[in-house]
Amino acid sequence: MAVTGAGCDLTYCKMRGIVSFFTAFIKERKMGLNDFIQKLGSSPHTCRHSDVRVFLKIDENQNKETEEGNRPHCLSTPRNSLVEENRVMPSDFDYLKIIGKGSFGKVLLARHKESEQYYAVKVLQKKIILKKKEQKHIMSERSVLLQNLHHPFLVGLHFSFQTTDKLYFVLDYVNGGELFYHLQRERVFLERRARFYAAEMASALGYLHSLHIVYRDLKPENILLDSQGHIVLTDFGLCKEGLAPNGTTSTFCGTPEYLAPELLQKQAYDRTVDWWCLGSVLYEMLYGLPPFYSRNTAEMYSNILTKPVELKPNVSNAGRSLLEGLLHKDRAQRMGAQNDFMELKCHSFFSPINWDDLMAKKTTPPFIPSVSGPTDLRHFDPEFTHLPVPGSLGNSDCLVTSSLREAASAFLGFSYMPPSDHAFM
Ligand code: AMP
Repeated sequence: MAVTGAGCDLTYCKMRGIVSFFTAFIKERKMGLNDFIQKLGSSPHTCRHSDVRVFLKIDENQNKETEEGNRPHCLSTPRNSLVEENRVMPSDFDYLKIIGKGSFGKVLLARHKESEQYYAVKVLQKKIILKKKEQKHIMSERSVLLQNLHHPFLVGLHFSFQTTDKLYFVLDYVNGGELFYHLQRERVFLERRARFYAAEMASALGYLHSLHIVYRDLKPENILLDSQGHIVLTDFGLCKEGLAPNGTTSTFCGTPEYLAPELLQKQAYDRTVDWWCLGSVLYEMLYGLPPFYSRNTAEMYSNILTKPVELKPNVSNAGRSLLEGLLHKDRAQRMGAQNDFMELKCHSFFSPINWDDLMAKKTTPPFIPSVSGPTDLRHFDPEFTHLPVPGSLGNSDCLVTSSLREAASAFLGFSYMPPSDHAFM
């Protein structure tokens, strides 16, 4: 179909393009307006203005009660309850099982009611985040996930939205289990298998570095396997954005076992921390324990700083040489310091890897987790899956207290919908 007017042909394709451009534009504006409304609603000062009160339809009595008694109040209309008026909200999903727990909340298997698609929904409690003063990390996780990250071995974010007390991330559901779960069951992996996982992780890290993002928290719990046996990295809560190739930063983060010496000493660090962490995970896959491990944490820290890495000969020369390079205490000498991922790619340990095939997922994974379907939870820890699913998760109306008002303003701009109209396809 072609529409002709004013001397130019407007093809159907062009029209579709224009329509989807404006749809995305309007959606983005709507999100901005939602944030603006939240901001208005969360500031007691602006709320006093009569026009704002009319606009927000704030009920005089209701507000008095919350302010005076500081008591929670159940608000019935989504507009008043600060729930964002997006197309996606908590009640759009059935929450089926708890599949994991992080420091700020739970991860659940959920099914979108309309599309019947399965997702992993990460639900975080704003209060806990604020108490731990971690809102910057969480907003960073969101913004990292949102940077249009498209990589075969990184988890995809479909939506994020919030209610007054919770943040929701709707992620790809990955059900082959944590790498840690499989490693614990088998104690160590054969070299071929460890190489495959290390190569997929390295390519994901190299991709993040190319976008000036440092992952910082590579550890087996954050490394999942999909149903075909490929790596999926999750949890971008500790990522550091905006680090130029040789830029450094000094916020202390990470998991003790895998902490690089420069992090332990609170020195400046850069993307080479990720290569240290990859070395730690590879070491644990090959030897069954993290390098420098000790039950005594103080001793482990001292080992990380001063003890040479112990490389027993049951791993090939190439494997040991890679570990030695990645676990170099001086980050300037560490493998990857000069040429990042390219240095690893060229190392002899990875010579059996065809990187193009790997990226195209044409390399057959060494282990295929057997799963019969999305609801097959055999690779998740029963410690989580046996827990009851809280009914409140699907509530889009929430209690508003003054501390929640504060919470609302800390997470402005959290919500996200993809620009496409086909979000659930
Ligand atoms: P996190 O808070 O991201 O560390 O997640 C806690 C746990 O939830 C992880 O260790 C995984 O076991 C599980 N999990 C997180 N994201 C997903 C996902 N996208 N699909 C399946 N399970 C997940």
